[in-house]
Amino acid sequence: MENMTDLAPFNAAIDAVLPGIRSDLEDLVRIPSVSSPAFDQAELDRSASKVKEILEASGVSDIDIISLETETGRGRPAILAHRPGPEGGPTVLLYAHHDVQPPGDRSTWDTEPFEPVEKDGRLYGRGTADDKAGVLVHVGALRALDAMGGLPVSVSLFIEGEEEIGSPTFVDFLHAHREQLKADVIVVADSTNWKVGIPSLTTSLRGLVGLEVTVDVLDHALHSGMYGGPVLDAVTVASRLIATLHDEDGAVAVDGLHGYDRAQVDYPEGQLRADMGVLEGVELAGRGSIASRLWTQPALAVIGFDATPVETSSNTLIPSCRFELSLRVAPGQDPADAHDALTKHLVDHAPFGARVSFGGRELGPAFQAVETDVMKTARQALADAWQAEPVDIGVGGSIPFIADLADVFPEAKILVTGIEDPDTRAHAGNESLHLEEFRRAILAETILLTRLAE
Ligand SMILES: [Zn+2]
Repeated sequence: MENMTDLAPFNAAIDAVLPGIRSDLEDLVRIPSVSSPAFDQAELDRSASKVKEILEASGVSDIDIISLETETGRGRPAILAHRPGPEGGPTVLLYAHHDVQPPGDRSTWDTEPFEPVEKDGRLYGRGTADDKAGVLVHVGALRALDAMGGLPVSVSLFIEGEEEIGSPTFVDFLHAHREQLKADVIVVADSTNWKVGIPSLTTSLRGLVGLEVTVDVLDHALHSGMYGGPVLDAVTVASRLIATLHDEDGAVAVDGLHGYDRAQVDYPEGQLRADMGVLEGVELAGRGSIASRLWTQPALAVIGFDATPVETSSNTLIPSCRFELSLRVAPGQDPADAHDALTKHLVDHAPFGARVSFGGRELGPAFQAVETDVMKTARQALADAWQAEPVDIGVGGSIPFIADLADVFPEAKILVTGIEDPDTRAHAGNESLHLEEFRRAILAETILLTRLAE
């Protein structure tokens, strides 16, 4: 071990602050701060005020609650706070978000979504993990450091209120508050660990291309008996077009889309099947390691399809149909390039000369971490807190704001850390936080902030 820090004072400090952290987390979970516009947005103001109160009780006095006005509307309330450390030392920006996903169907929960309940070492409730635990990991580290004599580094906190709706005012916010957000290191506590007992840094995220596609073959509907034969209906044509997107192995077959396979961990097939609920007899698609198929190769799915519903179907050749594609872009590829490759493929492969046109598109950047000394320091802190070797992981989903952070603050070293584990069920019913992992995450961040000062 390169760093022989005595962990006893850290552990004592964590034990001292943990009960308060736990009750603050529960208070925050009781506020249904759903950022989706269909929900009462006053709850977000309440949770922002609660976060402010929690920070005030953690020695932070410079705290603003900001709802940014932009051309596209008013942002959800974010908390921007700063607490100075020793003169001349580094500044660390701690990110988390206080908004949550909607609870979803009540029947998917065994307990009330906004009433935290502990069961078998886990705390159940919407936001217990994603990402109110992230907020409290940062707060826990501040309080533990205070218990040990004070902050070793200057700390800024950015607690966002709109992550779950895609952070619409995030980039504007970064520019508007650039000076306050400026930091040497950024810690984003909003990802997952590999499994309980094995901590992780998230070093890659896939990007996203959403694309609406319309296929037209006729200028009006026709009797399928009178005219069926010489012209195929739009759904059949669209199905043939969709079938060209993957090869016989089920790997994405679009020229110009890139991917790679150098995963550090092995995701056993049986485990994946159990985690995903793959039906007996259904074979896995794609090539290469399973981790690479999830994290560092492109993936393409049809996520919506509009055609005549079966209930109202008649003997008619359908002239036109529409579908929505969701392309996950491998880290390292620009989503705009991936979008161009996908649209070119669809036009080039249009069966029988069918008309293919495109509607709305959505682009989200991917992320690929570049190795830094700060990442080594972070891995050592994780190893000490967990007493286990950390692993680098990718995440198949997109966190577009991480690429935005890297864009606006190219000098800052970004660390993406986790409070979730494979059983967390973020966004679903029965979301929960593993409480021992939560403690370890606070311990790791406390050690990390101490070592960043050295
Ligand atoms: Zn989150």
